[in-house]
Amino acid sequence: MGAGHRYDEHSISCPVCANDAILSGWHEVTDWEADIGRHGNPEGAYPIVTLHGDSLRCDVCGLNLNSREKLEVAGVETEVELEDIDPGDFLEQIEEWEDIDPEDFGGVVEGSWEL
Ligand SMILES: [Zn+2]
Repeated sequence: MGAGHRYDEHSISCPVCANDAILSGWHEVTDWEADIGRHGNPEGAYPIVTLHGDSLRCDVCGLNLNSREKLEVAGVETEVELEDIDPGDFLEQIEEWEDIDPEDFGGVVEGSWEL
């Protein structure tokens, strides 16, 4: 699976029937957090990924909300902080970030990104 695609969809509770509905949209890394190891030392960083949903589809009741406005009217949370992030999916982005400062992560040195 290519990096990131699975982060563009997220299963949430359908506002109509309460079964699993698929919120889809686009995602971005909104922050990085230091990954603190067992001994209290930072061992790397993991991304905080937010999904910006702009459509919701429920295969159970047939609900299909295809705009952000409709989602908001239905009371659906459109900004979802995703869990179960695989930092490996975002390592390329780290390397592209020239302004990243290891100090932000407690002095993580280059080469410690390996998983
Ligand atoms: Zn439904």
